[in-house]
Amino acid sequence: MGLISRFFWPDIRFKNIYEITPQLLSDCGIRAVISDIDNTLVTYDDPSPTPEVRRWLKSMEDAGIKFAFVSNNSRERVETFCEGMDCCFFADCGKPSPKHILEALRQMGEDKANAALLGDQLFTDVLAGKLAGIRTILVDPIKDVMTPPFRFKRALEKPILAAYERHISKNRKKG
Ligand SMILES: [Mg+2]
Repeated sequence: MGLISRFFWPDIRFKNIYEITPQLLSDCGIRAVISDIDNTLVTYDDPSPTPEVRRWLKSMEDAGIKFAFVSNNSRERVETFCEGMDCCFFADCGKPSPKHILEALRQMGEDKANAALLGDQLFTDVLAGKLAGIRTILVDPIKDVMTPPFRFKRALEKPILAAYERHISKNRKKG
């Protein structure tokens, strides 16, 4: 599992974004979050942040945690989602390319050591974060669109996540 764990295991995993609190991020020394949009923050059907997502983003902002958005989706989608937000955002990112993550860090003026990538997919989000050299936070997808390519990707993720969970629970037992 050497290469797999190095490139595809997230540093932290949560059920959803609401388990991630500003306190928790500060405790980990994370001051900047570079986030995926689709299925991480909202479903593909939500053009804008839901009130719940807005409240969550506001709590981060109030705590001084900066946000940027990197999406593989279209410019129209990303611009609509980010409308009225004071942050940098990038569409058509081609994740797992780390290019736009690094650009976001540069624009935010943050070091890699204080940043984390937040996303729902191993082969795009987590890998992109790893290639950028920052920490990665994985959440479960909100609602998968079960097209055949998606099913295939999720099927490939399954054994990797199962091994990750075994590793985590072994370490927990060790204390
Ligand atoms: Mg996603």
